[in-house]
Amino acid sequence: MIPRVVPGDDRYPLLRSTYTTVGAPNEVLLPESTSQVVAALRHAREVGLPLAVRSGGHGVSGRSTNDGGVVIDLSALNRVEVIDRAARLVRVEAGARWAEVAQALAPYGLAISSGDHGNVGVGGLATGGGIGWLVRQYGLTIDHIRAAEVVLADGSVVRADADHHPDLLWAVRGAGAGVGIVTAFEIEAMHLRDVGYAQFAVQVGQDGKELRRWAEYLAEASRELSTAVTLLPHGRSLVASITAVVATADERRVRDAVEPLLRIGTILDQQAGLVPYPALVSTAHLHANVGQQPAITTNGMLATMTGDDAAALATTVAGGRRLVQLRSLGGGGDHGGDGGDRLRAPPSRHAGGLLGLPAPGRRGPGSGLEAHNRPARWGVRRVREPSGQGRLRARLSRPDR
Ligand SMILES: Cc1cc2nc3c(=O)[nH]c(=O)nc-3n(C[C@H](O)[C@H](O)[C@H](O)COP(=O)(O)OP(=O)(O)OC[C@H]3O[C@@H](n4cnc5c(N)ncnc54)[C@H](O)[C@@H]3O)c2cc1C
Repeated sequence: MIPRVVPGDDRYPLLRSTYTTVGAPNEVLLPESTSQVVAALRHAREVGLPLAVRSGGHGVSGRSTNDGGVVIDLSALNRVEVIDRAARLVRVEAGARWAEVAQALAPYGLAISSGDHGNVGVGGLATGGGIGWLVRQYGLTIDHIRAAEVVLADGSVVRADADHHPDLLWAVRGAGAGVGIVTAFEIEAMHLRDVGYAQFAVQVGQDGKELRRWAEYLAEASRELSTAVTLLPHGRSLVASITAVVATADERRVRDAVEPLLRIGTILDQQAGLVPYPALVSTAHLHANVGQQPAITTNGMLATMTGDDAAALATTVAGGRRLVQLRSLGGGGDHGGDGGDRLRAPPSRHAGGLLGLPAPGRRGPGSGLEAHNRPARWGVRRVREPSGQGRLRARLSRPDR
C-alpha cells in the first residue's frame, strides 16, 4: 500500500502546499520505493485527475502541488549513499533535501554543489540546473550527474547513463520535469571539506555603481570565488548583502579572492572565516512547506553589467517592494566546471554572466516579500544576441513605478 494523505488527515496541512503555493490536492501519495512510484502513477492515470510530482516542494513555479488532483510526493525516497568512494560516485534519491546530502557526504570529505538553501529538494534542482555556492569552480549540479533512474509516463523504469538512453540523460539534466519522474541520481561528488565564507553589507547609491564594481571584479576573479548579492532597501538607501564563498580552505587564497570586494563601496558590516560546506546548506533550513513565500519572480542572464543596468537595479529595489538577487556565473559555470561534463553544458552560459532574480513584493517594505511565479513586465527584457547563435541575453528594464 502506498502511504496516502487526504484532506482531514493530521499531516494534510503539512503536505498540501509548496514553498510558494498553497494547494488543495485530493490526495498526496508518499511512495517509499520506485515500484510504489510506478503504482502511484498508475493510480493517478486510473482516477484521471491532474498529477503533480514533488521532491522538496521549493520550486518557484508552484507546479509540485495542485487543486483537486493527485500529488506524488517523493520525500520518503531520501537515501544518500556513497557507492564508489574512489570514483566519488554518490547515489542520491530524489526526495532528499540538499542539507541531508551535505550532511551525509561530509564524513567522506565529499560535497556536491547544489543551491544556497538546505531545504531545496534533490529532484527539482537536479532536473533543473543547480546554481550553488561553488558554481564558478564546479559548474551546475547537472554537470556532475552520471546516471538517473526514471519512471517514464507509460510506467516503465529505465536507467539513463552514458551507455543506456543517453538522450534521456541529456534531457533529465535541465528539462527533467518534462520527461518522467526521476527517482534517483548518480552524481560525481567533489573532494571538499571546509570552504572560505564571507558575509558583508555594502551601501549602494542610486546609480548602483557598487554593483557595477562587483560585476567587474567577478568578471576577472578567481573561479574559486562564487558570490550571491541580495539588494535590499535599507531606510532611505539601499544595501547589498553579499555572500562570498571560496572553494578552498587555504586562508591566503580566501583572503586574496574576497578582499577586492571590500573595495567596491562603503562596507557597513563584515565577517569572514572557514566553515564546513554543510554549514552553507544547513539542516537548520529544513522545514515544512506551507505556501509561506508566494512570489512573482523573473530572471535573466546579463553578460556584462552596464551603468544603466546597475542604475535600473537600484531603481527597482528603491521602490521598497522588490528584492533583487544577483549570482555570479562565469568561471566553471561556462563549461561545466571542474570534473563537469563540458560537452553537455548548455550554450547559454557565458563568461561573466550574471543572473538577476528580481521579485516584486506587494505588501510594502518591512512586511515580508510577497510575489508570484510568472515573468513580470518590469524585470528583465530578454534580447536575442544578433551574432550569438540565437543565445538569449537580458537587459534590465526600468520598473513601472
Ligand atoms: C528559497 C529558495 C532558494 C533557492 N535557491 C536556489 C539556488 O541557490 N540555486 C538554484 O539553482 N536554485 C535555487 N532555488 C530554485 C530551486 O532549485 C528549484 O526551484 C528546484 O526546482 C526546487 O527543487 P524541489 O525538488 O525542492 O522542488 P519541487 O517544487 O518539488 O519541484 C520543482 C519542479 O520539478 C519537478 N520535479 C520535482 N521532483 C522531480 C523528480 N524527481 N522528477 C521529475 N520532476 C521533478 C516538479 O514537478 C516541479 O515542476 C531556490 C528556490 C527557493 C524557493
